[in-house]
Amino acid sequence: MKRSVFFKIFSGYLLITLLLSVLILVFTFATIKDHYIQTLTNDLKNLATTLKLKVTPLVRENQFDKLDTLVKELGAEIGTRITIIAPDGMVLADSEKDPKAMENHSTRLEIIQALEGKTGKSIRFSRTIKEEMLYVAIPINEEDAVLGVLRVSLFLSEINGLLNNLKTKILQIAIIIIAVSLFVAAIFSKSLSKPIGELVNASHRVAAGDFDVMILSKRKDELGELAESFNYMVTQIKKLVTELSLEKEALNIIIASIQEGIVVLDKKGKILLSNNSFGKIVNNTAVKGKFYWELIRSLKLGKLIGNIGRENTVANEEIEINERNYICSAAFLSSAEQIVLTLHDITEILQVTKMKKDFVANVSHELRTPLTAIKGFVETLEQEKNVKTKHYLDIIKRHTDRLINIVQDLQLLSELEEKENLELENVNLQKLVNNIFKMFNQRLTEKNLYFKLNIADNFPVIRADSFKLEQMFINLIDNALKYTEKGGITITVDQINSSVKIGIEDTGIGISGEHLSRIFERFYVVDKSRSRKMGGTGLGLAIVKHIVQVHKGEIKIESKVNKGSKVTIILPR
Ligand code: ADP
Repeated sequence: MKRSVFFKIFSGYLLITLLLSVLILVFTFATIKDHYIQTLTNDLKNLATTLKLKVTPLVRENQFDKLDTLVKELGAEIGTRITIIAPDGMVLADSEKDPKAMENHSTRLEIIQALEGKTGKSIRFSRTIKEEMLYVAIPINEEDAVLGVLRVSLFLSEINGLLNNLKTKILQIAIIIIAVSLFVAAIFSKSLSKPIGELVNASHRVAAGDFDVMILSKRKDELGELAESFNYMVTQIKKLVTELSLEKEALNIIIASIQEGIVVLDKKGKILLSNNSFGKIVNNTAVKGKFYWELIRSLKLGKLIGNIGRENTVANEEIEINERNYICSAAFLSSAEQIVLTLHDITEILQVTKMKKDFVANVSHELRTPLTAIKGFVETLEQEKNVKTKHYLDIIKRHTDRLINIVQDLQLLSELEEKENLELENVNLQKLVNNIFKMFNQRLTEKNLYFKLNIADNFPVIRADSFKLEQMFINLIDNALKYTEKGGITITVDQINSSVKIGIEDTGIGISGEHLSRIFERFYVVDKSRSRKMGGTGLGLAIVKHIVQVHKGEIKIESKVNKGSKVTIILPR
């Protein structure tokens, strides 16, 4: 059950007030009663001392009948019970009863005290009178001898009557005090709980989105400070919310106007947010709340989203939606457990790229026939042995050869790009390299270069496209041969876990550092005239890189000028 602050403060006060009142009442009453009894005791003692003068002669002379008569008279006169007791405890005279009928009083506390020479006092229930009584006893002594004890007593019922009156009065005052203090406590509790209640209401309104709430408080205490802080906090929140709303609005406009499709998914793949472009891509405007796979049927996308949720990274994938191609980037927002997808339309780019490729393939194909014809006629003219034209024919032939090389390389590159799928077969690298080496044997001997192949005799076969691997080795060995004048070429094949590491190393002119990062680009050559002289096209390494990539391998080149170069290729087995 929810208890209000008012209830808590007020019930606290109520408890304290009642507890204090009861304590004060009990204490006051006990003090007053003690004081009363003390005063009465003193009065009785004084009375006893006065009476002692009268009774002492009769006790001394053993005139007990006279004594009893005197005691009865005096008792009736002063309204107090008077008893005279012998040192052995026998009652000699009593104002109320017949002394002979009374029992021995030697064990009574006040009598024992009086016989010891002190003033005896006791409050007790009298078995003789059958009422609670206050007894005061003093010794009757002459010189050093104790003749007896004089005891005066009063009915406590009288004191109790008096005290009861007093009790009623004290109670009345207490009730008035309690009522007044509770009234004050109620006002005080209210004054404390009211601002707290206001704060609670105001916080509820703020929580519900109403930032125009203000607490009006004139208090100068902590509650006043709290109200001021609350007002300040609400102003700040309002400012922040306004700024955020503006930013959100701007962001929404930006997202809406972006050409790329943007969509935010929860971790189960449900669409939380998307822009107009996304609606256009999937031909559906009501996408919110749907699962992405209801709109885009793509295995690749499913795999991408599955991986992104597990690996917390950003990844890209090319996917097809409604016969158009998109680069889909997926990012996982781990804080919100959401996935953001952006779809960039690359259909036109792909078309243009394809057109370019087709163009290159067509041009190289179309150029091949006329170039071969030119070469053929040049060779025919050469046979005429005309010294005048020989020089020019040599130039034409060299350039025609170069053109044929370029066209061949371009055609090869186009074919590689066209047919990206590999024709995998078991390839024996030792055999393959040795066969290629035979092709270069003559050139190696002409240049007086060595050729070394470091491969284990029982090196296992690898799964690869034999034709493409051949092309790769031809280009690399051709380069090594072209740019090496002394020393030779070493090919090393090693097995590393599930990969094959191939190193093609030469002792040639090397390549300076600044060119290394660009060496695999199409038509990139370090030294144009040298490359031309060697019949280079600038496409050899681009072809090699492409072959390595379609095999899902890696390639790198290290080189030192005038020391040589080393191309390292890692292929999966
Ligand atoms: P190219 O047909 O001109 O050899 P490549 O693409 O095969 O074209 O090589 C690009 C350039 O890289 C070459 O022009 C050459 O300058 C440099 N290069 C390639 N291989 C080597 C090598 N083994 N030693 C020195 N330079 C090389």
